[in-house]
Amino acid sequence: MDNLNLIVILEQKIETNFPYICYSISHKYINTMIKSVADFNFNGRKVLIRVDFNVPLNEKFEITDDIRISSSQKTIDKVINDGGLPILMSHLGRPDGEKKAKYSLKPVANYLISKGYKVHLAEDCIGEIAKKTVSNAQFGEVVLLENLRFYKEEEKNDLSFAKELASLGDCYINDAFGTAHRAHASTYQVGLEFQDRFAGYLIKAELDFLDVAISNPKRPLVAIIGGAKISGKIDVINSLMAKCDDIIIGGGMIFTFFKAMGLEIGKSLLEADRIEMAKSLIEKAKENNIKLHLPTDTVVAKEFNNDSLFSTKSINNLSSDDIGMDIGNASISTFSQIIENAGTVIWNGPMGVFEMSNFAHGTESIAKSLAIATEKGAITIVGGGDSASAIKQFGYDDKVSHVSTGGGASLEFLEGKELPGIKALNF
Ligand code: AMP
Repeated sequence: MDNLNLIVILEQKIETNFPYICYSISHKYINTMIKSVADFNFNGRKVLIRVDFNVPLNEKFEITDDIRISSSQKTIDKVINDGGLPILMSHLGRPDGEKKAKYSLKPVANYLISKGYKVHLAEDCIGEIAKKTVSNAQFGEVVLLENLRFYKEEEKNDLSFAKELASLGDCYINDAFGTAHRAHASTYQVGLEFQDRFAGYLIKAELDFLDVAISNPKRPLVAIIGGAKISGKIDVINSLMAKCDDIIIGGGMIFTFFKAMGLEIGKSLLEADRIEMAKSLIEKAKENNIKLHLPTDTVVAKEFNNDSLFSTKSINNLSSDDIGMDIGNASISTFSQIIENAGTVIWNGPMGVFEMSNFAHGTESIAKSLAIATEKGAITIVGGGDSASAIKQFGYDDKVSHVSTGGGASLEFLEGKELPGIKALNF
């Protein structure tokens, strides 16, 4: 197949009959030809699958949120149903290259067993133990390799470590969207060891939603950016400026914008070294005719805790001891109207300190507006991380089009950066 010709013809993402996914000409993935698992038969194959099972655990080592596991089950089931052997590899937490029992993937093995899988947990992810575990397993069962980050070589994208991992299987699937923005041995180097390398269903779904949202959106395209700091979101705001019709800003970062506008912000969150950056974003929005929406009112408290007295104030009226904790009702009403009339909505970052019930109303209202927009036909995408937890907390996670499993990865994708984990699947 002549990749170049195919790409030139493409105006936007298509799925060909040939088992490749092609991404649009307006994005980094212009040159990306990725094979999907959907069109391959894994019968008799030992399939290394990079999954993101970095799940939250409580003090009893119970999994408190299983979305990362359940999201990859479709890919695992496909290999099993074809008659292949999935060899799952993942990291969990930050063991920093040391074998530490508290970072063992045992809880994940138990979870998979409780879902009916016959699981062999290899107590080491490479070497004789791993090899023996794989050879003892039957097709249709599951091998789970112990935490990849028990080896510092994993995060160093080390070639010989990657070759050790690769020796366990005869083909490779990456379904770990949450780590696709990292060039680690299991997300990057291992893939290159195989001619048969594929995107799993989860990665495909993530790319489908995110790519369409920024490359070929139903308009108006509205981005909602919140969270604590401008510093972590500056690149995405800049990049979205070129694409969106409206950008809504909420969360702690608004106070740096207000400071840049010369307003009193009391003891609210401030990134003093980002004031100039906030000024230039406001200017850029004006120059490019982008509607940049900042809140007009805010819920303030005197202490940063849920028991503090609170009230709603216009943003022009803050006193020197106020702490801005959430967006106010007037802002909620304006933002909701914009969201509910959007064609496409991308949301990353809470509107306030949603972990405290008195300051969760703004975030909950935005989550509800996304659900209403979805019902009216909009494509609504929630970036991972805190906005994903928030939408789940408020019970709207199944009322939006897509909740991303990767906070950092989805941000980097929206910024237009190349994700190494996707690049490695390229042909
Ligand atoms: P991020 O990781 O940048 O998306 O930030 C998420 C965090 O921002 C959450 O833990 C929120 O509690 C926090 N946050 C949102 N609004 C505010 C605010 N007004 N002041 C302080 N923290 C906030």
